[in-house]
Amino acid sequence: MIVAMQEKATEEQVDAVINAMEEAGVNVHRTTGEFQTILAGVGPTAGLDLTKFEMLPGVLNVHRISAPYKLAGRAFRPEGTQVEFRNGATIGGQKVAVIAGPCAIESRGQIFAIAECVKAAGAGFLRGGAFKPRSSPYSFQGLGIPGLEFMREAAEASGLLVVSEVMEIAQIEPMLPLVDCFQVGARNMQNFNLLRELGQVRKPILLKRGIAATVEELLLSSEYILSGGNYDVILCERGIRTYETATRNTMDISAIPVAKKLSHLPVAADPSHGTGRRDMVPAMAKAAVAAGADALVIEIHPNADKAVSDAAQTLFLDQFEKLVGELRGLAAAVGRTL
Ligand code: PEP
Ligand code: MN
Repeated sequence: MIVAMQEKATEEQVDAVINAMEEAGVNVHRTTGEFQTILAGVGPTAGLDLTKFEMLPGVLNVHRISAPYKLAGRAFRPEGTQVEFRNGATIGGQKVAVIAGPCAIESRGQIFAIAECVKAAGAGFLRGGAFKPRSSPYSFQGLGIPGLEFMREAAEASGLLVVSEVMEIAQIEPMLPLVDCFQVGARNMQNFNLLRELGQVRKPILLKRGIAATVEELLLSSEYILSGGNYDVILCERGIRTYETATRNTMDISAIPVAKKLSHLPVAADPSHGTGRRDMVPAMAKAAVAAGADALVIEIHPNADKAVSDAAQTLFLDQFEKLVGELRGLAAAVGRTL
């Protein structure tokens, strides 16, 4: 259930409503927006008489949530969520965030060179994998924590924030001091134990859509994180598997406005994995911004052809710089900045 409080509701009134909801056996999640407080009640609400809550002082209206996801739904925060980072950067506001870096951290030199390019392009987030989910167990699996330490050092030197993929619960603790945002990869979108544990973390989560997942399943996965009290989730469209073989995945651009309509969470787009092809990345990056994406995830490498993973979809640094310039013009045309 959603209880929307009146604009002028007092703290005492909000507390009284929370108490009444808890007494009725529901778990309360509170969000206070610019104009009003909204209380989402999660739990056994089916048999509850909602008029009882409607009559409480300070309440504007009460309704049931028919969607299976409760906290991820737009009604919880009609104005949208802005995820805030420690340096004041945000994802979900007017500015489209650019998250760029190599598929995998390969060496100190590699990640430092990339960090400088990301900074020079005016992007705010450095992304690289230290733990790599590879289709083959014989492929490079990532440098692990030592690689992440290189990336943290490089990011600090350039004033960037760090995004990196977490593959299992045991990695959360050692990664915590080294990342500003945990990425959950497509393969782990339904690793519910991992998602639950990330609900206890107080750092943002970039949650990628599974290759065969619907938008509703993506939102339900985000619900595992939100219900733990971590409301800083960024959804990410990264291409789904279809019968088309011309591209590695089929970039589902329509998922961006769909997710933004259904949910208050910011939506990112990853045209690198979405296409698997360097020559297609710029077109899909632009399409994503035009469709309302709040952030872009782009793989880049100084020697892209020789990248140890995902070389075919990785942009050279000069291609990335050029793309960011083009995206600035496009963002302005759709009322955003970049
Ligand atoms: C990645 O971001 O490098 C990655 C492995 O992505 P995905 O989980 O979308 O395949
Ligand atoms: Mn990759």
